[in-house]
Amino acid sequence: MPVSNTYRSCQVSACAHSNCCSTIVWVEMLLIHGVYHFRSQRLAFRNDYCLFCAEPRRAVQIRTFDVWHLFWIPLLPLGFWKRWFCTVCNRQPHVATRTRRTFKWAGLVVLLVFSIMFWVAPVMPDFRFGSWLFRIGGPMGTIILLLHLIYTPKETSLKERLGTVHAATDTVCPFCGTQLIVGPLCSCPACGVVRQ
Ligand SMILES: [Zn+2]
Ligand SMILES: [Zn+2]
Repeated sequence: MPVSNTYRSCQVSACAHSNCCSTIVWVEMLLIHGVYHFRSQRLAFRNDYCLFCAEPRRAVQIRTFDVWHLFWIPLLPLGFWKRWFCTVCNRQPHVATRTRRTFKWAGLVVLLVFSIMFWVAPVMPDFRFGSWLFRIGGPMGTIILLLHLIYTPKETSLKERLGTVHAATDTVCPFCGTQLIVGPLCSCPACGVVRQ
């Protein structure tokens, strides 16, 4: 499927990747920390495969200066970081979004072990309902997960998906409309973005 060029209308500016620019905040053990992304700069663009969109997409590479913060106070400079973003969903295109198959198999083993444990152990008089719930629910969950793993087709690898993506052939900068300088490095003389 050809890569859509509609990203031009969405005008991905150097700081429009909301997932990145907005402070990522985790609350762990009452510690609020995250990473600020400063000085966003667009460096390059390419045709890519986005795992979140599950489609070939245009991706843009953004460089930022990252600073780790604690309780919103910038404390630790982490240096310059480059990341690729899908111009449609604004996520990093190669970050897996689904539970990996190996994790599902690991979950199956855990469920199986728990199912056996609850059937081997006698029913606790003060936990009768819970014991039977686990005795029945455990094997049921195991069977459902096993059937899911058997009948769900194996996911195509990212490498195979990338093989279906055609390289970018733009001759005009998709961001500022300037004619690209075609050479060993195809770049825009106006905004400096590089075609990859
Ligand atoms: Zn996407
Ligand atoms: Zn340009």
